[in-house]
Amino acid sequence: MLFAQDEIDLTSDGHVHTKLCHHAEGEMEEYVEAAWACGLKEIIFLEHFEVGINYKEEATWLSGDAFRFYQKECQRLAQKYEGQIRVGAGVEIGLNPQKLSEIQDFIDSYQWARVGLSYHYFESDGEHINMLSRKKDNIDRFDYLGHEKVLSQYFTALRDALTVLDVDVICHIDAPLRYCHGVEFVTEHWYLIDELLAEMAKKKIALEINTSGFDVRGEPFPGAAIIDRARRAGLKFVAGSDAHRPQDVGRYFDRLRKGLS
Ligand SMILES: [Zn+2]
Ligand SMILES: [Zn+2]
Repeated sequence: MLFAQDEIDLTSDGHVHTKLCHHAEGEMEEYVEAAWACGLKEIIFLEHFEVGINYKEEATWLSGDAFRFYQKECQRLAQKYEGQIRVGAGVEIGLNPQKLSEIQDFIDSYQWARVGLSYHYFESDGEHINMLSRKKDNIDRFDYLGHEKVLSQYFTALRDALTVLDVDVICHIDAPLRYCHGVEFVTEHWYLIDELLAEMAKKKIALEINTSGFDVRGEPFPGAAIIDRARRAGLKFVAGSDAHRPQDVGRYFDRLRKGLS
């Protein structure tokens, strides 16, 4: 559908969660087994890091202790499966524009196979609202705030963060407000997206093609229009399933290949 053979490595799933983030299931080893069983050559866990988030629901990210365990478990699995499949420890950084230096300190505190940057929690009046949530309360609050304004701030904050944060890939770039109704990008958003993509190209930051989008809307995050713009900007692409269950590792990767449907 979307990519030529040499444009994206579909033998690597670079975005996989674990139950350590409280909203995924299965042992880490089960994810590795699933990746191996579907013929992948590499699996990179990309667990949630957030800081300074004031959210009334349960935390969707790892504690400091959980990250220490996670790193060790990734190392154990990398050794155990050596020669069969590569296993990497990565992190999905959740952007908090107020906490850039703390975030960079955390990135520097470990060796990562991949550092992904996402932006999940939008701040309003001292509280955070999850932009990727399907919960009615979150959706109602974004309807009230105005989608256009929220999305403008979203893309601007990502672009500005790249002047401080050292990251390898931006994840599910057009996924925010995905469960809100009537969301459409306006001219200003496209302008901000192009600026963000240009900044990524300059810093050699890849664009993630997140196949969880197929379940939500029949195409990956991002969709074809942003992929075209990214291609023109000269960006590199990496694939990620965003699996929160072992059986979702590598999901829909076959749909990304050009000539297939
Ligand atoms: Zn998650
Ligand atoms: Zn995410």
